Formats: sequence, C-alpha cells, structure tokens
Amino acid sequence: MRGSCLMKKKVLVALGGNAILRHKEKGTAEEQLENVETACQHLVELIRDGYKLAITHGNGPQVGDILLKNERSKDILPPMPLDICGAQSQGMIGYMLQQSLRNEMKKANIDIPVVSVTTQTVVDQNDQAFHNPTKPIGPFYTAPESDRLKKEKGWSMIEDSGRGYRRVVPSPEPKTIMEKGIIKTLFRSNAIVIAAGGGGVPVILKENGSIKGVDAVIDKDLSAQIFASDIGAQVLLMLTDVEKISLNYRKPRQMDLNKITTKKARHYLQEGHFAPGSMAPKVKAAIKFVEAGGEKAIIASLETGRRALKGRAGTTISQA
Ligand code: ADP
Ligand code: MG
Repeated sequence: MRGSCLMKKKVLVALGGNAILRHKEKGTAEEQLENVETACQHLVELIRDGYKLAITHGNGPQVGDILLKNERSKDILPPMPLDICGAQSQGMIGYMLQQSLRNEMKKANIDIPVVSVTTQTVVDQNDQAFHNPTKPIGPFYTAPESDRLKKEKGWSMIEDSGRGYRRVVPSPEPKTIMEKGIIKTLFRSNAIVIAAGGGGVPVILKENGSIKGVDAVIDKDLSAQIFASDIGAQVLLMLTDVEKISLNYRKPRQMDLNKITTKKARHYLQEGHFAPGSMAPKVKAAIKFVEAGGEKAIIASLETGRRALKGRAGTTISQA
C-alpha cells in the first residue's frame, strides 16, 4: 500500500472562493457547508481515481462577509484588521473542508487524515501593489451603491467581470510560504493538506526577522502555485465557476480554449484577454507552475475537474 502511494500523481486542487459561496447566495452556514460538501464529493472522486491531493481555497466572499460584520458591529466590538479576518476565514473554511472531506471519504470507505494549516505568506513590503489595489473582496454592489461607498468610506471599487461592483484591496505578489517545511512533512506523511487558504495571510519580514501581518489580500492562485511547486505536485488544478478560459471573454467572438502552451498563454495575457484579479492570476500561476517544473496546470469548473484531469474538459496549460 505504501509503495503504491508513492506512485500516485500529486495534484494541488485550488478551489475558488465562489465555488464555496456562490455570489447569488446569502452565505448561511448551511449553504456554505452544502457547497463544501459538493466540492468534497468531487474531491473524493479524484482520490478514488488514484490521485494524491493537496488543497487550497479562495476566501474572497467569506473574508468580505467577515469584514462587513466587523464594520457593522464596530460600535460594540473593536473591528479586526484584514490579516486577522483572513486568518479567521482560513480557520472557518479549513474546518468545513476537514469535516466534509472526512464525511465524504467515509462513505467511500477511504481513511486518509486531513489537516488544515493556518498559513502565512510572505510578501515584499515594497511591492507596488500597496499603491494600486486590484483584488475584489466582499459582496457585489450596484453602481450607485459603489459610488456612495467610494465617497463615504474611501474604498476603491471596480466593476468585476460583468457581475457588479466590488471593493478592491492591495494584492501583493506572494514570495514564500512561512509554513512550507511543516506542509511538506504533513504531505509526505500521506495527509491531505489544506493550506494557503485565501492565498495565506499576507505578512512581511521585518529587518530584525520578526513577522508582521499586513492589510492586503493575496490571490489564492498565485500562492497555490508556490504551494504546488513546494510539494512537488505534477498538476495544479484550479477549479472555478467557468468551464474554460476564453479569448474575448463575454464579448462578440468569444473563443474557449482547450489546450495551450505557456508561450501562447503569456501572449494572450499580454493581449489583455484575462481580467486582473480573477482570470489573469490563474493564467500567471499556471505559467509559473509549468516553468517551475510542473507537468500541467488546468483551469476547469468543479463539475468538470475530473474529466479535465484526463484531458477531456477545461483548459490545459503545459510546456508543449
Ligand atoms: P475564483 O474564486 O474561482 O478564483 P474568480 O472570480 O477569481 O474566481 O475567477 C473566475 C472568473 O474569471 C470567472 O467567473 C470569469 O467571470 C472571470 N474571467 C475573466 N476573464 C476571463 C476569461 N478570459 N475567461 C474566462 N473567465 C474569465
Ligand atoms: Mg480568484
């Protein structure tokens, strides 16, 4: 049994925040648990297919809700900064995944330990992103609401891929994962490791070597690449709410892509086909992952992930 485990193909699955809390939903605990359960049913199918999994997840909708709660109750309780809200969301989503995954594995007679690691991701304090917020977080607003929030709270707002207006915060580039060593140890010991949730809590390293959380959000797909490369995964599977990546997305002459090289991907990225803060970081993560020695990166929907691993769905990005 041990021997066969060593042969298993290692897949880092990155679950979109929107795959856990859909933007038309209220976000009740029941809704989120149900969505996590559905996600875990798909993950168990991958385990049954013989893949060794590690998992990361987005937290955009969740951390947005936590921020809003903090904002609304600030007269009775001191609001927490973004880094602590991020850690809170990692704990919450990690817990739901740990529980659901065990429940779904039990139904399939599979017994693999699951652990989630509260993760700190190191960013450069001089990152240009701190002067240019790009990452959408929280609920969707209408155009007049967006204008009001800009004026009243000084928030930066953007139009998010035709779905409404959202607050944007700085999204610095992840450099390394603080918990890399223990994540590798846990993964090698055969556990399903859930880490770098929401991209990990962004932290900076001060000159004296101490760690400090910062007010930002890291794109989970960029951290997923570091996580995937750290554990030596062959496949980076990014599951989101579209089935494929497209050229001219939501425009006349939209063209869905099945399989592209990293060279083509970089070219399309430069042509501006992928929205910053949503699809662009996935494509960047895919290119980096393959160039760091990964076999392939795949972007697919939760429902088509399994077929995408076999090359029959989604968009595959590889060297050739
Ligand atoms: P996740 O939570 O899974 O990271 P995101 O919202 O960050 O989800 O990214 C997925 C979204 O990217 C899609 O829902 C789609 O609206 C948007 N998107 C932007 N550009 C493209 C493109 N060229 N092809 C496909 N989807 C795109
Ligand atoms: Mg995203």
